[in-house]
Amino acid sequence: MAANTEKTFKFVVVGGGIAGVTCAEQLASQFPSADVALLTAAPLIKAVCNFKQVSKTLEEFDVEERPSSVLEEKYPNLRVIQSAVKALHAQQHTLQTVDGLEIHYEKLCICSGGRPKLLTQDNPYVLGIRDTDSAQEFQKRLSKAKRIVVVGNGGIALELVYEVEGCEVIWAVKDKAIGNTFFDAGAAQFLIPSLDTDKPERAVTCKRARYTIEGPAATQGLAVGGGGDRQGQRRGLEEPGSALGPDWHEGISLRGAEEVSHRVSVEYQSEVKQIYTHQDFLLSPLASQTPDTGSWPVYAQLTNGKTFGCDFIVSATGVVPNTEPFLHGNSFALAEDSGLKVDDHMMTSEPDIYAAGDVCTAGWEPSHLWQQMRLWTQARQMGWYAGRCMAADVLSETIELDFCFELFSHITKFFNYKVVLLGKFNGQGLGLNQELLVRCTKGHEYVKVVLSGGRMLGAVLIGETDLEETFENLILNQMDLTPYGEELLNPNIDIEDYFD
Ligand code: FAD
Repeated sequence: MAANTEKTFKFVVVGGGIAGVTCAEQLASQFPSADVALLTAAPLIKAVCNFKQVSKTLEEFDVEERPSSVLEEKYPNLRVIQSAVKALHAQQHTLQTVDGLEIHYEKLCICSGGRPKLLTQDNPYVLGIRDTDSAQEFQKRLSKAKRIVVVGNGGIALELVYEVEGCEVIWAVKDKAIGNTFFDAGAAQFLIPSLDTDKPERAVTCKRARYTIEGPAATQGLAVGGGGDRQGQRRGLEEPGSALGPDWHEGISLRGAEEVSHRVSVEYQSEVKQIYTHQDFLLSPLASQTPDTGSWPVYAQLTNGKTFGCDFIVSATGVVPNTEPFLHGNSFALAEDSGLKVDDHMMTSEPDIYAAGDVCTAGWEPSHLWQQMRLWTQARQMGWYAGRCMAADVLSETIELDFCFELFSHITKFFNYKVVLLGKFNGQGLGLNQELLVRCTKGHEYVKVVLSGGRMLGAVLIGETDLEETFENLILNQMDLTPYGEELLNPNIDIEDYFD
């Protein structure tokens, strides 16, 4: 093998998403004289900016897509190599990339993210949304669409059905209420009317900085912001870009071909049973059984017995960890969800290999107030903590599980409302051993508190409630709130003063 195809680094991180970039930055700054490599399949990396610690555990930040040179300029000891990993030899401590590079490492962190769990592979009428490329493909197809079927009930589906205008949306959710991953039927009830009202006007500005890769690079990777045949510009669709974040739809117009604002019909407790092309549908007995289905390129038959023709189907049914290139020939312990199982030091079961972000599954006994969810915030926290654990290992130092894993906390926006989720916000794992307090003002706020044995274990705050810090403290200090009863949510009591 020619010498320049073999490289050796002390630390290698795979993945240019939030987890990988945060981990690589942590290592490069802690070991300025060590060689650190960030290996990534996509030409742009994701960087955290405007980081704000809102409270002890709640954090907010923006994410920018940046060319990799920005990282290399900031950390002279950090090399960003754009080449997808195709194999890992864990015993030999080497990685092989699709470009024929062989990379040796002392310590490795895998942050290769996840892939959309598609209803079906290779059906041109079924789209998943994961990265900038797929979001732009969706936008292009939507601009000509009159009706789409959205399948899924997680964050992406929630945002999508709210953001899409000018196109009828049939939303198939497998649960009894929308947004089951994030909240209960009460919160869903609070949010549903937003689907029938016009969206507030918002300037189409782009919060996230975008870069266009032009010239030779464009033939190698994805040209963000560029036009043309996007799929043709990619080196291979099997090499994914980084996952999008909360503001993925900002700056792109999600408008269909019709002159309507929102037109969403929810099909509860239904999943897709079968997908038919136009021709297959006409030949099937369904065509005669359901005469009013119109003429569409694709048809989705749902488990509730209804069939809908549409322009295309969006499969927003979650992600599967992107572990494939790393497994062959190695013996990683995998979790039930197929993630790389990591211990409380973010270590996998293979020597000197760590993992962070969407690709991994927390295998430690978690705090009773925390659960893993494949979210931006957790990708950052895990990447940062994995970097610190790798450093501690090299320096033979001990390190405790970081405080951010004490309490689950997440801030986001759904249907244009601020949403804060704390602890066991949905009573996860509590069964009947829970009591709920709810305060709701239609169109204004929805506050739910989960109590067990008089102690607060979780909360859902929708709207500008200003309660997050106080509730976070009450959850963390596990004070017995029995004496306060329902007064806890009395809007006439300044709860912050109360507990100060
Ligand atoms: P990713 O960002 O997926 O990065 C993986 C990286 O690995 C990429 O750079 C990729 O190119 C690289 N890679 C993959 N395979 C290889 C390989 N073989 N070799 C080399 N490199 C490789 N989270 C929230 O908190 N709030 C939200 O509102 C929210 N909305 C979302 C909306 C959408 C549409 C999507 C798709 C996700 C959303 N998420 C949201 C989830 C969030 O984006 C992810 O949890 C997070 O970005 C995961 O970060 P990561 O670094 O683990 O993985």
